Order: sequence, then C-alpha cells, then structure tokens
Amino acid sequence: MDLFAGVEELKGVGPKTAEALKKAGIRTVRDFFYNLPKDYENYETPTSIAEMRPGKVVIKGKIDSLSTRQAKRRRLSITEGVIRDNTGAVKVVWFNQRYRARQFSPEKEYYFTGNFELKNGRYSLISPSAAEVADIDPHTGLSPIYVAHGAIKSHDFKRLIANSRDKFAKIPDLLPTVRPGTRKNALFFVHFPNSLKSAQGGRDYLAYEELFELILAAKLNRQENEKLKATEIPFTAKKIKDFVADLPFKLTGAQRLAAWEIFQDMEKNTPMNRLLQGDVGSGKTMVAALAAYEAAIQGHQTALLAPTAILATQHYEGLNSTLSKFDVKVALLTGATKKKDDLKKQISSGKIDLVIGTHALLTDDTEFRDLTLAIIDEQHRFGVEQRQKLLLKSPRGLAPHLLAMTATPIPRSLQLTIFGDLDVSILNEMPKGRQPIVTKILTELEIRESLYPNIQETLASGSQAYWICKAIDDDPRTETTSVKSRCAKLQRDFPGAQIDFLHGRMKQAEKDAVMERFSKGEIQMLVSTTVVEVGVDVPNATLIVIENSESYGLAQLHQLRGRVGRGSKASYCYLVTSGDTRPSQRLRELEKSTDGFHLAEVDLKLRGPGEIYGALQHGALDLRIATLSDTKLIHRAQADVQKFLQHPEKMVKYKELMNGIARYQQITTLN
Ligand code: ADP
Ligand code: MG
Repeated sequence: MDLFAGVEELKGVGPKTAEALKKAGIRTVRDFFYNLPKDYENYETPTSIAEMRPGKVVIKGKIDSLSTRQAKRRRLSITEGVIRDNTGAVKVVWFNQRYRARQFSPEKEYYFTGNFELKNGRYSLISPSAAEVADIDPHTGLSPIYVAHGAIKSHDFKRLIANSRDKFAKIPDLLPTVRPGTRKNALFFVHFPNSLKSAQGGRDYLAYEELFELILAAKLNRQENEKLKATEIPFTAKKIKDFVADLPFKLTGAQRLAAWEIFQDMEKNTPMNRLLQGDVGSGKTMVAALAAYEAAIQGHQTALLAPTAILATQHYEGLNSTLSKFDVKVALLTGATKKKDDLKKQISSGKIDLVIGTHALLTDDTEFRDLTLAIIDEQHRFGVEQRQKLLLKSPRGLAPHLLAMTATPIPRSLQLTIFGDLDVSILNEMPKGRQPIVTKILTELEIRESLYPNIQETLASGSQAYWICKAIDDDPRTETTSVKSRCAKLQRDFPGAQIDFLHGRMKQAEKDAVMERFSKGEIQMLVSTTVVEVGVDVPNATLIVIENSESYGLAQLHQLRGRVGRGSKASYCYLVTSGDTRPSQRLRELEKSTDGFHLAEVDLKLRGPGEIYGALQHGALDLRIATLSDTKLIHRAQADVQKFLQHPEKMVKYKELMNGIARYQQITTLN
C-alpha cells in the first residue's frame, strides 16, 4: 500500500473532503492514519433518561424537534432538540454547533454523552458528543473522538476511518523489528480499540516510533558533525595557569571542570559541539574567555556572538580588560560600530583575535582569516540559520569549534532526544558569596505600601534597582503602565534619586550611554523593557521589579530576575501582578525556587517542548504522540537506535524512516 498517496485515494474522500483535509494538514494516506483520536468516549453503560442524575451522563435514544436560533448575544447560536428513550425525554442544547441540526436522522438511535445540568431554570443535557449506536462496537462501547478541523468534525473522521478499516492490514512497519508489536496493529487499535488498554498499547508503540525517529535524526546529525574537520588546538597549561592566577577571583570548581572539558574538545581535529549550561550569574563568560584565550595563544581567531548590542558591548568591555593584558586583540562589531570596513579588514587579515558582536557579525562581508572557535552566548536566542552562518565563516573547508552557552537549561530528556545526547558542561555552582534572591509576588495596589520602603532603603544604601515594564509608550486601550510613564512617576515619588529609562526603540548610542551610566552607578534606578533581560551584568543592582509579571514566560522571568543577585549583597525580586486573579502557577514556582534547572523542568511540564524549544528555535518541533516525560521509553528508544546505527548498511532498506527523519534532522541540529 502506498502510504504517501494523496488522501483522494481513500474510500469516501471526494474532492471537497480532500480539500478540507489538506487544509487541516492531512495530505497523504499516512497523515490520515496518523491523525489519532484525542480521546475516547465510553458508551458502555448508558443510563435511562428517567434515572439521570446531574453530572456527566451517557444515554441512548432518538432525537427530534431539532432547531437552531440566534441568541441575543451576537455570535452565539443555540441548537436545541429533545432526546427520548422508552423511560422519558430530555432537552438537549448545543452552543455554536449549528451542524448538529443536520447531523441526526430521527429514525436512528444514538448515544449521547455530556453534562446533565441546570441551565436557565431547567435541567438539560449540555453540548453532548454523539455517536450512532450502529457505529459503536457493542462489546467495548468505545468511540474515538477526533479533533475537528474546520468543516470536518469528529464524526466525519470516524466515518472516513471506518471506510478504510480493511486497509490497515496492509500497513508495513516503519522501524526495524526491535520491539514487540507491529505498526498496523498499533494504528488499528488506536482507531478501533477493543479496550482502552489496547488503545494505549497502540499509542505507546507509536510514541516509541516517534522517539526512535527523533533520536535517530539527532544521532545522524552528530555523526555528520563528526565527519567535519576542525583545527586542533593543543592545550597550553602554563599560559592558562598564569591567566587564571591573574584573575581577581578564584574560578569555581564547575568553571574549572567546564573549561577542562572544552580544552579537551578543542584538542581534537573534529569540531567541538558543546553546550555550556549555567544558571544566570554562574560565570559562563569567564569560561568563554578561557576558551578564547587558549585559541588566541596559538594564533587562532574566535567570534563571540551575542543577541543584543547591550550584551555584546558589555562582553567587549569585560573581556577586553581581562584579555588585552595578555596580548589578545579584542574588537566589538555591532550595527552601531563606526568604521566597520576598517574593522572588517583587520578581521579578515587576522589582526583581531577575538571579535565580539551581534547579528552584524553574520553579514557576508565579515570574513575571518582563521575562525577556529565560535562562541554563541544565549544560544536559544538564535535560529538555526544564524548559527549556520557563523559556522560557515571558517575558511578552508574547516569547521570551527562551537561553544554554545545558555542560561535556559535543557532538561535531560530533551538532551537525549532532540539534541542526540549532545556534549554538555554544566555550571552548577555559583561563585562564592552569592546570596539567594528573595522573590515576592504582589499586586499593583501594594506597590506604594510594600515596595516603596524597600526601594528607598536599597537606593539609600548605595545599591541600584531595575524596574521592568511591558510597553514603551502608554496605550489607552490597555492599562499597562509604560516605561515612560512609570519612569516619570518614580521620578516624582523619589525626587532625590537618579532615575532614567531604557528601551529597544532608542538609538544604539543612546542605549549604550544609559547602560554605561547605570553600570557606573550614575543612574540608580533603571526603568526598562526586557532589553535588559539577557546577560546584562551590573553586580551592584540588588532589586528588580517586574510589572505585568503574569505576561511573561517562566524562563524569561528567571532571566530577568537574574539581573540581580550578582554581587555579595542580598537581592530582591518583586513580581507585580494586576491582582485581578490568583497568581499563576508560573509565578508561584518562581517565588519558591531560584534553581533554573528545576524551573526548566517545570516549564517543560507546563508548556511542552514545542512551546519552549520549538517555536523559539527549531521552527517545528511537534511531538504528536510521545511525551518527553516518559524517560523509560526514551532510554529504550535510545538503546535501540544505538544498535540500529551499528549496521548502517541496513538503513537504506528503511526508506520511509530515512525520509521522515530528514525533517527532524533539520530541527534538531545545534550547529
Ligand atoms: P552568566 O553565567 O549569567 O553569563 P556572568 O558570566 O555574567 O554570568 O558572570 C556573572 C558575574 O560573576 C560577573 O560579574 C563575573 O565577573 C562574576 N564571576 C564569574 N566567575 C566568578 C568567580 N569564579 N568568582 C566570583 N565572581 C565570578
Ligand atoms: Mg551571560
């Protein structure tokens, strides 16, 4: 059977249905079979109408007197009818489901399941789902529920899939037979379960299939990476020791270990492909500096890519003062850089050892003589293409060693699957003397009473503060306080303090000037949008207020909070909410924990990987069946993929598999 034939090939699918299916992304026979039910209705033991009690009920009967009317509230249609069995009759109501008026024929018997409740002074069955009795297996009583796609409702999918019931037997397996079961049975029992257990069994098989594909794709990416050649950078112990001895602080054990892992990777002639994960403030930049220094000692160039000009500038200032003493030539390249052409010449002639920059680094006319190490800070902020652009700047067909850094930790389950067991170094130790940040949720109404005294105290003690707002300007349609009006208000309320603002629409030079004044302590309180979110490092800032905190994601809030707690003084983070509703779970988790790894796990559970890692950086990570919390299944699939990879000659036989993973390979590449 050709799984890749168009849906028109299926029985009962005419041109119009085919069109509607395609709109829903169901193009091939395969897509159609893989459009799995989202749940099952269980019609096993219907209640008689006379015996119904309020709550969820299943009844069996005929329906008549159907009609639809428009409610006074515009855009609400009400379809009503009466369901009868031989014990009585009950009113049924659907909202905005006009098709229900045409779905039923009065002679046929149907199951209905929904809530029996009091509505407008009378008990009715509200928005039940329905299935024709003749369609339901009398032994199981189970009926699949499909997600409706436009004109194609759940019962249409049921009808279509029933038309193709005899096709399942011909579905070939996708995977080498490493697991008991077959794909045809798995798919069959998901669509036509003879028990909930068999449906779950089928689903598990398909989840395993999906994980196998994903892990295989990631592993193949890795193998491809290993075929690339990179410049070997032999470790120079003495110089690195001298450099470390000169630092104003002692490296943490975690920094040492990470640096050591990186040095070992760089000694190889295959490119390093390492992710450095460390919570905000754990000192990733210093590890990057060590790697760049090591490259520079041996005459090789490094590029450090940062997501914002503020961050690039700050890295430049920090790294230049650390590294220039050791004869490393450091340069900054952002959109605002003057005499770009001169600088680019110096880069292409190899005069510059370390170039720090933003996207401006990625333009075609930025050429390197010898780009050997690429460091990407806050790597999740960059798309695959941008990262590729940087990596292709290595001359002579060599690939640079890649060090990607992130403060948004990637949970272990994702490391194993999406990233193919990638090399990870973890900074799980904070520099000495850091105090945990105290986090508090409060409402707008409490700002004056609870917050102002703390701000007063913070500023009086010589520390600084951030105040984060959602919008730059006031918008009469919303009630969010903008950066500008909040700044004006704070200036009035704290007349003695130096308060200024920062946002993304300011010119680069203006932004730099404000940041510099804040770094130097000339500005005491900075009212800003989230442009300060990533990486900005002003250790004297000890208080951050995040207004409209409910509108940000967990990872982003954690990042924002990480702007404080970077020195030895106690720090505070205030999450201000509008107070209309109870604080979300996100905010409560944040209040409880400052552990970025824990918060990443929570975020993964709350939102799913597609939301966090998909939309953000991979474009289309849509695991349809598997859940990444199923670590047992992940480990099993991983072991099986490993075995499969030992026989590359076999792979060509699995055409569908190899074609399928090409898509995954696109989205799972780190470099
Ligand atoms: P992040 O991991 O968030 O990028 P940074 O690299 O910006 O963190 O480091 C945060 C701050 O900690 C910086 O001010 C940096 O100079 C300082 N720092 C880094 N390593 C150490 C250390 N071992 N001991 C003390 N301070 C350190
Ligand atoms: Mg950083």
